[in-house]
Amino acid sequence: MNTNNHYGAIVIGAGPAGLSAGIYLSRARVRTLILSESTVGGQMILTHEIANYPGVENISGYQLSGIMKNQAKKFGCEIKANISIEALNLNNDLKEVILSNGNRFTADAIILSPGGRSRTLGVPGEDILKGKGISYCATCDGDFFTNKEIMVVGGGNSALEEAVSLTRYASKATIVHQFDHFQAFEYAVEEAEQNPKISFMMESTISGFFGDEKLEGVEITDLKDGSKQNHAIDGVFIFIGYVPNTEFLQGKVELNKWKEIIVDPNMQTNVKGVFAAGDSIVKKYRQVTTAVADGTIAALAASRYIHELHKAKTLLPV
Ligand SMILES: Cc1cc2nc3c(=O)[nH]c(=O)nc-3n(C[C@H](O)[C@H](O)[C@H](O)COP(=O)(O)OP(=O)(O)OC[C@H]3O[C@@H](n4cnc5c(N)ncnc54)[C@H](O)[C@@H]3O)c2cc1C
Repeated sequence: MNTNNHYGAIVIGAGPAGLSAGIYLSRARVRTLILSESTVGGQMILTHEIANYPGVENISGYQLSGIMKNQAKKFGCEIKANISIEALNLNNDLKEVILSNGNRFTADAIILSPGGRSRTLGVPGEDILKGKGISYCATCDGDFFTNKEIMVVGGGNSALEEAVSLTRYASKATIVHQFDHFQAFEYAVEEAEQNPKISFMMESTISGFFGDEKLEGVEITDLKDGSKQNHAIDGVFIFIGYVPNTEFLQGKVELNKWKEIIVDPNMQTNVKGVFAAGDSIVKKYRQVTTAVADGTIAALAASRYIHELHKAKTLLPV
């Protein structure tokens, strides 16, 4: 074993879950490496303001990421960003991660925190105006649209329930849905239909976003006749599904039918010594605070696991 490339723990993903795990592990003197396929910060860097992280106000996702990263590094955590994982061998006591550049690392424990992504519409303007009027999170961004007009895209429970909750802030919410009926529970449909601030644009879709610095309007396509119309709007919330970044974990750890990682209350997966945290696990509420909490639990459980593993090895008869 090349000891330079051996770590107590390797964390995969540098969002708030992975960075919190890195802070706790390094502070517990576990030699830790965080590997991330993008720049450090995960989904946090997509948002211009995080207004609901307790203890810090007026902070951008980019700034909060920087603070978490520096805190992890201060305790000795190593971070390699913009890497690509080629192979993962998780079944033995010695876990192995091989990168596409050929570098190979081993560890006693692995924490998986690859996060996820909201399903996007994939239409022109969406990438550029994400976080500048286009949102995928009502809890995170609803308050920014107080007394403003918004659209909500989707026809499932999330879209309808979030549209109702967004009317606490918005003066008007129009639900844009591609079919002539919803795929939601009856109670959610009724609640939306009875809300005086909500109107509906059925059999329609948003086919483009426009705006310079921030969202100014959308192009709506009528799916019955293909006609297009522009509408001025302050904000658009998109709830058309969520995709965990777990494609590379297929067959490695147990996933549910939505491809979320199944964990126990200690964030332990079905594979010994492999833990998971954050948006990629089975959970209902996906926030920075919940990711940080999961990362903490995973790190504490992994530290204990590593300790027990070493103790068992020293007790082995020779
Ligand atoms: C636009 C937007 C605004 C938001 N605003 C807020 C807000 O105001 N408040 C709030 O609490 N929450 C907000 N959220 C939600 C919050 O950002 C997430 O819940 C949180 O970032 C999840 O943390 P995570 O560490 O689990 O995953 P992520 O933040 O998704 O990080 C995952 C990390 O894993 C890496 N990764 C993925 N796959 C691989 C792989 N195969 N190999 C190596 N690395 C990999 C990624 O590059 C990334 O570094 C927002 C989300 C979005 C999209």
